[in-house]
Amino acid sequence: MSCLDSLTEIVRKDEPLAPYTWLKLGGPAQYFAEPRSIDELCAVLKCCREEELTVHILGDGANLLIRDDGVSGCVVRLNGPEFTEVTIEGNTVTVGGGALLSHVISRTVAAGLTGLEELSGIPGTVGGAIAGNAGGKSGDIGTQVISVDVITLDGNRETLPAELIGFNYRSSHIGSSIIVCAKLQLREDDPQEITKRLRKTWIMKRTSQPLTSQSAGCIFKNPPGLSAGALIEQAGLKGTRVGDCEVSDIHANFIVTHENTTSQDVLKLIDLVKSQVSDKHGVNLELEIKVWP
Ligand SMILES: Cc1cc2nc3c(=O)[nH]c(=O)nc-3n(C[C@H](O)[C@H](O)[C@H](O)COP(=O)(O)OP(=O)(O)OC[C@H]3O[C@@H](n4cnc5c(N)ncnc54)[C@H](O)[C@@H]3O)c2cc1C
Repeated sequence: MSCLDSLTEIVRKDEPLAPYTWLKLGGPAQYFAEPRSIDELCAVLKCCREEELTVHILGDGANLLIRDDGVSGCVVRLNGPEFTEVTIEGNTVTVGGGALLSHVISRTVAAGLTGLEELSGIPGTVGGAIAGNAGGKSGDIGTQVISVDVITLDGNRETLPAELIGFNYRSSHIGSSIIVCAKLQLREDDPQEITKRLRKTWIMKRTSQPLTSQSAGCIFKNPPGLSAGALIEQAGLKGTRVGDCEVSDIHANFIVTHENTTSQDVLKLIDLVKSQVSDKHGVNLELEIKVWP
């Protein structure tokens, strides 16, 4: 019996993971933990250390492809109130790592604070956004971060100032640590102007992305100075299917999935796109989504 089996209120075994992802794909987690407090999170991590179980942090599953066989070890999801709180004091926003970015954006826009509104339409949690430095043409979340509180796999709490987080294009140095809280610095602005920018961003996303289909956002990172979507489109791959998934007709860097899609279908389509883009353009595409395990 694992020490995790004794944490019955917060740990489940063989939990299907597909419902927790935007692609709605993937097998179960050996263990699935939803700690309600930092103490409970540390208790889960302690069990995982003692039993050498791999820890996987799940946000909202918006940038994630989980393989059909599922994930061994323990998947941890931070969705309790302690991890989702949003507090605004002046221009500083303190937010839990499990809070939805969309919720933080509405709260800050309503408070007349600018800085996040152009991230509207990016699904996921604040933890996921910071770990992957989510963003778009107008900027990335990393530029608004003052500091982040993480729990390391050893169970220690550390405060990392922004300059130590190593924000880069769709990446950071957060590594295996768990973001439990972040401090963001925003600025005051005319609420009407902020709302106008938010609406404009949202309309642009709605017209350029397949938002009514199941996807994980952009599959590949943009190579320096190039657009992965344009390279895929120019290779004639829009609409290409493998099994029950296809390259989106609306945005070529999105793969959309359907009821009978398997993760294996998506992985095969990813390989096909990579090899065709490499043959046609001589460019090696790098994955933006995370594949578990
Ligand atoms: C329709 C659609 C549109 C999208 N548009 C954009 C876009 O414009 N720009 C963009 O950047 N992305 C976009 N994405 C991708 C996705 O929204 C972002 O990557 C988002 O930040 C992922 O957050 P998440 O909570 O869902 O993370 P998950 O997908 O759950 O996890 C992603 C990674 O973050 C890690 N992680 C999650 N939470 C934590 C935490 N608390 N501590 C440490 N690590 C953590 C996970 O371990 C994993 O490695 C889009 C996705 C979709 C489905």
